[in-house]
Amino acid sequence: MNILVLGSGGREHTFAWKIAQSPLCKNLYVAPGNSGTAEIATNVNIGVTDFEAIKTLALEKSIDMVVVGPEDPLVKGVHDFFLNDNSLKHISVIGPQQKAAELEGSKEFAKEFMFRHNIPTAAYQSFTKQSVEKGYTFLETLNPPYVLKADGLAAGKGVVILNDLNEAKAELKSMLVDAKFGEASTKVVIEEFLDGIELSCFVLTDGKNYKILPTAKDYKRIGEGDTGLNTGGMGAVSPVPFATDEFLNKIEERIVKPTINGFKKDNLPYVGFVFIGLIKVGNDPKVIEYNVRMGDPETEVVLPRLKNDFVEILQAMANQTLDKINIEIDERAATTIMLVSGGYPEAYEKGKEISGVEHIEHSIPFHAGAQIQDNKIVTSGGRVMAITSYGDTYKEAIKKSYQSIEKLHFDKMNYRKDIGFDL
Ligand code: AMP
Repeated sequence: MNILVLGSGGREHTFAWKIAQSPLCKNLYVAPGNSGTAEIATNVNIGVTDFEAIKTLALEKSIDMVVVGPEDPLVKGVHDFFLNDNSLKHISVIGPQQKAAELEGSKEFAKEFMFRHNIPTAAYQSFTKQSVEKGYTFLETLNPPYVLKADGLAAGKGVVILNDLNEAKAELKSMLVDAKFGEASTKVVIEEFLDGIELSCFVLTDGKNYKILPTAKDYKRIGEGDTGLNTGGMGAVSPVPFATDEFLNKIEERIVKPTINGFKKDNLPYVGFVFIGLIKVGNDPKVIEYNVRMGDPETEVVLPRLKNDFVEILQAMANQTLDKINIEIDERAATTIMLVSGGYPEAYEKGKEISGVEHIEHSIPFHAGAQIQDNKIVTSGGRVMAITSYGDTYKEAIKKSYQSIEKLHFDKMNYRKDIGFDL
């Protein structure tokens, strides 16, 4: 098969790394890719939402399957674009159609879906510019902290949690009336605060059947001890030590099954990855959010633990034969530590040479914001490289990642030194 992966992060390098190991893959392309994918695939400099350019590439290279990494092209309808074009409709696309991608594209859509299918989640109400006064009244009925969410995609910044009622009201006004997040905050979901520890569950589905991948926990804040600004993710651990079999069973029965059945009942065409953001409240799982793609950096610890031929799984998803697949998981733990540019998630510099990658022996460096320039690997983004290691225990895996990082250098390199320490 000729396969095209869309995206340029650590997640897409991990996809490419796993796909390249399959004898079923003949030619592998990544658009636009990074310095890591350049080593194992052909990078093509095309944006992930430039559908016409993707079409030209797909036809030119006789692509058989497109694996979509990020949410943007899915929410903009890349799958539908392929289905609606006679010259492309024979190509399998891994990722839900636009209607189903609304689960990530609209918080309100996701909340309505959860309530319709009795899936445990926080109580909520949604508001628009016209109902902002009602929003203030609703906030007054809640206990702090107050959780405000821009309805649409806001590059991971659309969720604001505040302790002070007046600040929460001002934030609501800023989102709805002053369009703080532009189109994304035309509607705002205000929801009950859930107090607990978070984890992520990843499900593969062909629309009929599902398979559950290993759980993972990611570390969102920039600072040690979970302090400071939110980031795309600073590290991840799989499996999650506190996710016991009993707890996993609750997730499957109360959340995964009703979610997949909900897709069928609501006629939401879904072939792809479902990333369920969960919170453990007492001993019960509740859904914080759905994402319609894999997580980054969770992919960098989940896929390395998958023993199966990944292309075989992707084919089964496309052919609706996922029930024939027996998922095999490596018993070892996997952890990843994200190296970021100094200043990230605020302003940071790019173009810094990364040295030492060739000296890493006991970890897998998944490249993210890194590109080849004049035969050197240089930084090109905030999150630069995810250093993944295996271990008999997650502690051993983390130790290996930190030892490997000692061999790496770039100007103003930063990373969290406490990944996994809270587990
Ligand atoms: P989201 O974009 O919906 O994942 O929200 C971003 C982050 O905000 C989550 O990872 C949680 O840490 C936090 N969060 C979102 N909703 C809630 C909630 N209802 N209660 C507590 N924390 C929340």
